[in-house]
Amino acid sequence: MKSRIDLHLHSVFSDGKCTPEELAVLCQKAEIRLAALADHDSVSGVKRFKEAAGKLGMSAISGIEMSCVADGTEIHILGYCVDEDNAELNALTDELKRERELRVPKMIEKLRALGMYVEEEDIRSRIIEGGSVGRPHIADELVRKGYVRDRAEAFAKYIGDDGPAYAEKRLIPFAEAIELIHKSGGFAVWAHPGLKFGTKGETLLKRLIAAGLDGVEAYYAKHSPEEAAYYAALAARYGLFTTCGSDFHKPENDTRHGGIGERQGVC
Ligand code: AMP
Ligand code: ZN
Ligand code: FE
Ligand code: FE
Repeated sequence: MKSRIDLHLHSVFSDGKCTPEELAVLCQKAEIRLAALADHDSVSGVKRFKEAAGKLGMSAISGIEMSCVADGTEIHILGYCVDEDNAELNALTDELKRERELRVPKMIEKLRALGMYVEEEDIRSRIIEGGSVGRPHIADELVRKGYVRDRAEAFAKYIGDDGPAYAEKRLIPFAEAIELIHKSGGFAVWAHPGLKFGTKGETLLKRLIAAGLDGVEAYYAKHSPEEAAYYAALAARYGLFTTCGSDFHKPENDTRHGGIGERQGVC
């Protein structure tokens, strides 16, 4: 299903393949009216995206996707309408970016032990100033070196959450993320809840609500129809708003994320 709203896009400021300007053009082609860039742990591309979208006649709001933790499980919290210049938000994202950089050599070591050789420099060169490095950048380097065909294979064989070359990254307790998003003037939304929790997310949702959650990304491209309906119903029951997002990253054969404007369910 296609939507005119897409509030979950990634750019080269995290692990997407498009610049903010390229994304804005693709959004226009997809007839998007309202969009948000939501890079992992970075707001550095937001100004450029809002400006480019505005020039093309679209509305755009600021966004960020924060890597959080709930009882040892990684969950993602989206922050919308945050002030991208907020000092506290930028201090934290700067810290997270530095820690993501320190994680790269740990994964390189593990890959080396598996007989795959990638250089930190080559991974570093894939990151734009202000961007946050992630596993997909390591995957891209494994592709370039011919060890795997694509990002999917890299995750499936080596760097997925249970993979032999996985290294943990710093995760923010969800209550801290929600509080910071609010302090930055934004709204906090639980990203793609169905991916990890299927149709069993209510217990965690209640805790997120107690911490101040505002919305749920029920209409996520890769949710099943049942998951979309389940989270939309929970949102209605608990008085939260719902959002739709594709999680567009751009690489060819990216079956894990949607195309621009793609979403599950009717919103
Ligand atoms: P990181 O934040 O560095 O741990 O990287 C996790 C990110 O990698 C996720 O947010 C996804 O965007 C991306 N990702 C996870 N699994 C896959 C996959 N199988 N193929 C492509 N990208 C993936
Ligand atoms: Zn990503
Ligand atoms: Fe996510
Ligand atoms: Fe995402």
